[in-house]
Amino acid sequence: MRPFGYVKPLDVDAAVLAAAAPGAKYLGGGTNLVDLMREGIEQPDTVVDVTGLPLDTVEDLPGGGLRIGALVRNSALAADRRVRTRYPMLSQALLSGASGQLRNMATVGGNLLQRTRCPYFYDNAAACNKRGPGSGCDALDGFNRGCAILGVSDSCIATHPSDMCVALAALDAVVEVRGRAGVRRIPLAELHRLPGDTPDLETNLASADLITAVELPPPVAVNSRYRKVRDRASYAFALVSVAAALEVQDQTVRQVRLALGGVAPKPWRAREAERMLLEGPAEESAFRRAAEAELAGATVRQHNAFKVELAAATIVAVLRQLSEREARV
Ligand code: SF4
Repeated sequence: MRPFGYVKPLDVDAAVLAAAAPGAKYLGGGTNLVDLMREGIEQPDTVVDVTGLPLDTVEDLPGGGLRIGALVRNSALAADRRVRTRYPMLSQALLSGASGQLRNMATVGGNLLQRTRCPYFYDNAAACNKRGPGSGCDALDGFNRGCAILGVSDSCIATHPSDMCVALAALDAVVEVRGRAGVRRIPLAELHRLPGDTPDLETNLASADLITAVELPPPVAVNSRYRKVRDRASYAFALVSVAAALEVQDQTVRQVRLALGGVAPKPWRAREAERMLLEGPAEESAFRRAAEAELAGATVRQHNAFKVELAAATIVAVLRQLSEREARV
């Protein structure tokens, strides 16, 4: 591993100042960055360890929302009683990610900023526009079974790996960021970028920007669920995942939130499907039409065409389960 400097500031202003130096990188739980440093993919000059900052609490917001500090560990957030009762999909998403040991280390801020990647990203012998801009993309005509089908470009078809972010996208989360010019708030849907011609740029953050918190508005429907489909039962990225919240009255969809994981380079809010479902019948044929409309723009490669039907079937299954649960209440 290349030598690097290390600082551990104790307040947010000092952290932002330290991270403004060229080649500086924030370090939270280290579950992604340290791996990438070992592989030589990330080579920071200075690591700014933010784990001493006072950003590790979950607080109630007026009206029923939550403010989640960026340093809250994934395992603690999943276990928080308020998260489990008000936002079940978020707790389920967190518990489906990584392993118990990694969830104990990983922070909310780090989870948001983990790299969008495919296996070729780790292979220094492979062409990868994300690792080496302009070098090509071996995934396009290589083994691309896990790659994205929505929001892709000819430069990169990697998927965003986070489960937590899919739930946050469905929940209309807002990210609070402290930068050199002060504090700003970014809707989660605008935090991550699609690859376009610059897949090495994954977020709309500037280099010294520090995520300090995530705010959740009051839930529109507590009847929510996260379902993850993957090759093995634990410690695997999603082939497809669905985060959904649903409220039904008189067999009509009154509220719906839907986001997809494993299919796009960023957490994918399924707005077209939501638009079709809202105020429509809560029945399987409507769920299917909405899912197919959302996926109509899919771009598939040799090994990942199966994701179109898998995503549609998973959306339908989750919405059916939520609507049946609503009918029993
Ligand atoms: Fe790199 Fe993206 Fe291509 Fe994977 S899909 S090799 S991460 S450019």
